[in-house]
Amino acid sequence: MRNTLFIMLSALFVVSCTNKTRLEDECRYSKSQTSFCFWSPVAEQMLVNIYADDETDEAEQITLKKGSDNFWRATVRGNLDGKYYTVQSFQNGTWSEPAPGIFAKAVSVNGQRAAIIDLKKAVPEGWDKDQRPAMPDPTDIVVYETHLRDFTMSENSGIQNKGKFLALTEQGTTTSDGLKSGIDHLKELGITHLQILPMFDYGSIDETTLSKNRYNWGYDPVNYNVPEGGYSTNPYDPICRIREAKQMIQSLHKAGIRVIMDVVYNHTYNVMGCSLGRVVPLYFYRLNDDGTYANGSGCGNETASEQEMMRQYMIESVCYWAREYHIDGFRFDLMGIHDMETMRQIRSALDKIDPTILVYGEGWAAMTPKYPYEELAMKQFTYKMPRVGAFSDDIRNALIGSPFDHERGFASGKNDQQSKEALCFGLAGGIDYQSVADSETSNIQVPISNIQGWAGEPLQHVSYITCHDNYCLRDRIEVSAKDEDEPTKLRMNKLAQTAVLMSQGMAFLYGGEELFRTKLGIDNSFESPDSINIIPWENKQKYAELFEYYKEIIKIRREHKGLRLGSAELVRQHVEFPPTDNPSFIIYRIKDLEGIDNAKSLIVLLNGSAETVETPVPKGDYTVLAHNAEAQAIGLSKLPLDKISVAPYSATILAENE
Ligand code: CA
Repeated sequence: MRNTLFIMLSALFVVSCTNKTRLEDECRYSKSQTSFCFWSPVAEQMLVNIYADDETDEAEQITLKKGSDNFWRATVRGNLDGKYYTVQSFQNGTWSEPAPGIFAKAVSVNGQRAAIIDLKKAVPEGWDKDQRPAMPDPTDIVVYETHLRDFTMSENSGIQNKGKFLALTEQGTTTSDGLKSGIDHLKELGITHLQILPMFDYGSIDETTLSKNRYNWGYDPVNYNVPEGGYSTNPYDPICRIREAKQMIQSLHKAGIRVIMDVVYNHTYNVMGCSLGRVVPLYFYRLNDDGTYANGSGCGNETASEQEMMRQYMIESVCYWAREYHIDGFRFDLMGIHDMETMRQIRSALDKIDPTILVYGEGWAAMTPKYPYEELAMKQFTYKMPRVGAFSDDIRNALIGSPFDHERGFASGKNDQQSKEALCFGLAGGIDYQSVADSETSNIQVPISNIQGWAGEPLQHVSYITCHDNYCLRDRIEVSAKDEDEPTKLRMNKLAQTAVLMSQGMAFLYGGEELFRTKLGIDNSFESPDSINIIPWENKQKYAELFEYYKEIIKIRREHKGLRLGSAELVRQHVEFPPTDNPSFIIYRIKDLEGIDNAKSLIVLLNGSAETVETPVPKGDYTVLAHNAEAQAIGLSKLPLDKISVAPYSATILAENE
């Protein structure tokens, strides 16, 4: 029965989707009238309910009229400011449950009704002057990922509005030891972009019981185009969450930090509790042959980006956030569920707003999506989506081991050729790499044999070792190298992160690693309490040396263009990996840098073993930027060298002076 319905629906959609009306025009308010517009090609009737407030069930019901473009419209005279609406559709003899429309821009508590507001009232002071911080060179990017609660809930954060958007508007905050915290900490660390775990309205936290302080990552979208109420100081006021989200973005922009949203269009919290499922049943989701919902997300459903209006919805939604909230980038959760054409169209739509807006995502799915694999935005097809990036599990697994086992990685003493080769691949930015050995350096070969390049350009390769998923770095090293002492584990931590930051790819850090955070061995902390998820600000004093190291390594990256050449062509010209017999030792050399860098060449030596490794280096006068688990962008020392000893589990970075 259901199968038959799906076939009928598919036939309908083929002929129906030629309109260009915007989905985001669902509710247009003015003082004298409000117009409504909802898309459905399958409804036999549609109506909008207007409520005086967000509690009463009494509603004025307005019948919508269908246009030839399958948009149903009505205009209501009078000033509806402060009222609420839901939409219902009638088909197959049944009225759907009331739902906010799919493009609600303001909602009641828990997002069950859309709110009719004057969006101009939700604008913080000075918003018209808000600007994206300058980003002259995309290779400058260092992304820092965090969750609003992780970053601020600790007693020692020194932040007043803990767990709220407003937490990231507070300036001059300090830890209990008087060290910088919050926004000032991010500036001190030197990152350029803050990636915030889902901040759109999600369903797993009851916004009416916030005092219970429950925690969730938020990968369960309800209203895609509204900020989450739990992060506002008053989720009952539809304006509050919008204004406060904008205040946060404005403050970060003032601090020179760009803001990346984590977007989750690949599935919804559930189907029938969500506008996409209620208003136009079946259309926005992929279905199995038996009519059940396909589940590539592992969360019970997967959306169908290839459907014309789902694609249009995603494009309009990101553009809305970029225009209305001045968002500077989008990280697509389970991007591999979306089709490549949608990702390309998203890229091109954002380019029209500002080409410096970032687009990247997870080039994989949780389970097998119900769509032809070769059309999906999977990691291995990244080169077919110019200027869309993908997370590199290659460099991650090479450095610290795969999340599917507890083995060590290169940085924690694995000592195998495969990890070494995968790490070299990641250092070169995931591109198809060919040796450019010339006759004078004839023994140079590239030890990259087992992975096919998937990034067209190195910045499409998101270099990282940890993010909110899986173990944080300290815990990962703990489970795979538990017998080592803490000083050794700290060396492994630094070595792994050094490789990330020396990679030609785009650098990405999980917030709190610089403060040696632990999640006490919980590798999936999506709903763990704050006690597991918080960043321990007291560690900034306790592990001050680790924080300083991170800061300096970031500085070294930012001061040396040779470490982020920015194009595949330049990487092929300048990067080489002279062979070594030791699977735990990598020589990564960036040469002939005249006119590119203030160093003639850069040499990054990575030793992932417990032994000191002595290696020759081309004779020259070098500044030592990092050595024996210490780093200084201005240089630890300056000396003529022709060989150097690289200490156990550490990186040595040399800049050859002109
Ligand atoms: Ca919510």
